[in-house]
Amino acid sequence: MENLHKFEHQAAGHEGTLTDEDEYLFFKPVLKQEIDFYSNLNNQLAGSVDDNELSLKDWIPKYIGLLTENDTTGLKKENINYVVLENLLRGFRKPNIMDIKLGKILYDEQTVTLGKKERLIKVSNDTTSGSLGFRICGMRVYNYSTELDHSYMELDEDTNYITINKFYGRSRTIDNIDEAIDLFFSMSNLDEKIKHKLAANFLSRLQLLYNTLLDSEVRMYSSSLLFIYETDQSRWEFLDYQDDIIPDDIEDEILDEDETTYCKTLSRLNLIDFAHSRFTPGEGPDENVLVGIENLIRIFEKEKNCNK
Ligand code: ADP
Ligand code: MN
Repeated sequence: MENLHKFEHQAAGHEGTLTDEDEYLFFKPVLKQEIDFYSNLNNQLAGSVDDNELSLKDWIPKYIGLLTENDTTGLKKENINYVVLENLLRGFRKPNIMDIKLGKILYDEQTVTLGKKERLIKVSNDTTSGSLGFRICGMRVYNYSTELDHSYMELDEDTNYITINKFYGRSRTIDNIDEAIDLFFSMSNLDEKIKHKLAANFLSRLQLLYNTLLDSEVRMYSSSLLFIYETDQSRWEFLDYQDDIIPDDIEDEILDEDETTYCKTLSRLNLIDFAHSRFTPGEGPDENVLVGIENLIRIFEKEKNCNK
């Protein structure tokens, strides 16, 4: 544990996440349901799917294992469990990150407490979670230019990154959600051509993910989509503007003349946060998350067409 430090690049969510010295890994404190989800993902999907088709696992950060921190204070007897995941930001130099929570229903009927259920129904009704089946939870973006209300953001002057908080996403409506998605892609000084390509590539990913989820029997409440893209133009140049829709495991890294390893990923889309997720064999696809992805696809189609 002493080699780990605070993970500084969250777009949303709770504190307490950690990373290692090289920042290859992401440690998240979790409860039993999330541990179960990751171990079931490894067990039940192994070898069961067609090699040519994407499976749920291809969209989820690689699960390395579980780490338990023993409580050494002697005060409480509770240990903290961390899932150890691949750090999705590995290889990026100046990533922009957006966390979008999926679903109109934000709680699992089987496990939720009454007070929490009422609160989450209200959050859904008052936000685009209810109207569109998704909601922007937060962003961590390069501070390029912004006229955003100051109550929605915080600037880190050392890194020149701004964190856009959950109240921004909660205050969006069906009438201005497109602009919020635009904002995510406008916060960089990348060439317009790259910005268009990014919107097109994320659209392709959303469509592929939709198809994967049609074949997946899971229920994911309050899970998120994590959008990540590189804003450092020199990395785009170095990699010849080649942004793969789905990063290939084996070809993920290349070496230059100095034998330095470079990741090839310039942008990616992943599913994260399975604190309230479970496998539901025989129960068909998760309509609750599919609705949100359908609406995102519509918005990204518009985005792509405007940018032609
Ligand atoms: P919470 O349960 O607190 O909402 P999440 O699993 O949603 O936790 O993670 C919180 C934030 O951490 C996300 O918004 C995202 O920015 C970041 N994050 C989550 N998983 C990873 C990962 N594997 N690699 C890098 N960043 C991650
Ligand atoms: Mn989350």
